[in-house]
Amino acid sequence: MSTFDDPHAEIREEVRKLCARFPGEYWRKLDRERGYPTEFVRALTEAGYLSVLIPEEYGGSGLGLSAAAAILETIQAEGCNGAACHAQMYIMGTILRHGSDAQKRRYLPAIARGELRLQAFGVTEPTSGTDTTALRTFARRDGDRYIGNGQKIWTSRAEHSDLMLLLARTTPREQTAKRTEGLSTFIVDMRAALGHGLTIRPIRTMMNHNTCEVFFDEMAVPAENLVGEEGRGFRYVLDGMNAERLLIAAECIGDAKWFTAKSTAYANSRVLFGRPIGQNQGVQFPIARAYAQMRAAELMVREGCARFEAGLPCGEQANMAKLLSAEASWAAAEACVQTHGGFGFAEDYDVERKFRETRLYQVAPISTNLILSYIAEHVLGLPRSY
Ligand SMILES: Cc1cc2nc3c(=O)[nH]c(=O)nc-3n(C[C@H](O)[C@H](O)[C@H](O)COP(=O)(O)OP(=O)(O)OC[C@H]3O[C@@H](n4cnc5c(N)ncnc54)[C@H](O)[C@@H]3O)c2cc1C
Repeated sequence: MSTFDDPHAEIREEVRKLCARFPGEYWRKLDRERGYPTEFVRALTEAGYLSVLIPEEYGGSGLGLSAAAAILETIQAEGCNGAACHAQMYIMGTILRHGSDAQKRRYLPAIARGELRLQAFGVTEPTSGTDTTALRTFARRDGDRYIGNGQKIWTSRAEHSDLMLLLARTTPREQTAKRTEGLSTFIVDMRAALGHGLTIRPIRTMMNHNTCEVFFDEMAVPAENLVGEEGRGFRYVLDGMNAERLLIAAECIGDAKWFTAKSTAYANSRVLFGRPIGQNQGVQFPIARAYAQMRAAELMVREGCARFEAGLPCGEQANMAKLLSAEASWAAAEACVQTHGGFGFAEDYDVERKFRETRLYQVAPISTNLILSYIAEHVLGLPRSY
C-alpha cells in the first residue's frame, strides 16, 4: 500500500489484533442502543494505546504523534470507532504544555494508568459555534475558587469522562483589548461537580457519538484547577488544535481504507449480467478516485505529523490534512454505498453505520469552510473573511 517503510507496522498489527475482538456486531448493538463501547475503551486503555502521547516520566509511552495517528487510523480501518475515546489521547496536551508541575503530577500518571478519564472538551456553545471567542460561559473568581455559569453543547463523552477541560470567559469580552483575551482553561472534576452545579444531558444524534449538552449553575471549581494563566486559555486551546486535526485526519484515512476494502470485496464478489459488478468502469472509477484522494491525503497527514514531531510549525499541513482526509473518507463512503446498492443501506453490512459516522468529520472538530478560510488567510495571505 505504501512506498514508505512504516515505522509503526508493529503497533498497527497489535491494534488490528485488539480490534478483531470487537467485530461489526459489537458496534451494531451499541449503535442500536446508543451505548458506549466500555469494553473496547478499556482494552485500548489497558494496552496503553490511549496514553502513547504522555511522556514516560508521567507513566505514558512518550511516543510521537505519528504513533497515535497510526493507532487511530488502524482502529477506523478495522471498522471500529475511535471517536469513543480519541480525545483521551490529545486533550491532556494542554495540561502537559501549560499546566503546573502539581497538575501534571496529579493528573497525567492517573490518566496514563487509566484511573482517570480526561476525554471531555467543553468549548462549543449553542450561540457561539465556530465563533469560539463569543462564548458566554463565565467563571468568576471567588476566593480560592471560581464559580462557573453557562452552557456547552456537543461536549462529547461527558458522561464517560471524569474530567473536563473547560474554556470559559473570566473577563467580559467588552473589557478586553482583543476578543481572544479574557478566556481561561480549567480542569473540571465532573465527579465532584455533578449534581453540584453541573448537569449533563445527552443529545441523540444520527450516529452513536455520546455527545451531550452540559449546564453550569454556580458550579465551583478550585482555583488550583486553572490551567496556566488566567485570560490566556484561548491560546492554550489553539495550541492543541494541530494535534487534534492530524489525529482526526488519520481516523478519516482509516475510514477511507475500510470503505475501499469493503467496496472492492463486494465489487469483486457480486455477479450480475454474468460478471462481477467491479468489472464495470462505472463501479470501479468512484472507488479508484476515492482511493487516490485518500493516498494524497495520507501523505499530508504524514507530513503534518513529521513537522509536529520535529517541533516545526504545522498549521497549514494539519488543516489541509483534516480537509483532504475528511473529503477522501466521504468520497470512499459514498462510493461504498453506491457499490453495495440496496445492501449499502442494510445494517448488517456496517456500511450505513460507518457512512453516518464519517460524515461528522467535515463539520467537527472544525468545519470544512473554516479550514478553507484558514488556508486563504494564513497560507495564501488573502484578507480575513470573518
Ligand atoms: C457529534 C459532534 C461532536 C462534537 N464534539 C465536540 C466536543 O467534544 N467539544 C466541543 O467543544 N465541540 C464539539 N462539537 C462541536 C463542533 O466543533 C462544532 O459543531 C463545529 O465547530 C461547528 O460549529 P457549529 O455546529 O456551531 O456550526 P456553526 O458555527 O453555526 O456553522 C454552521 C455552518 O456555517 C459555516 N460557517 C460559519 N461561519 C462561517 C464563515 N465565517 N465562513 C464560512 N462558513 C461559515 C460553517 O462552516 C458551518 O458549515 C461537536 C459537534 C458534533 C456534531
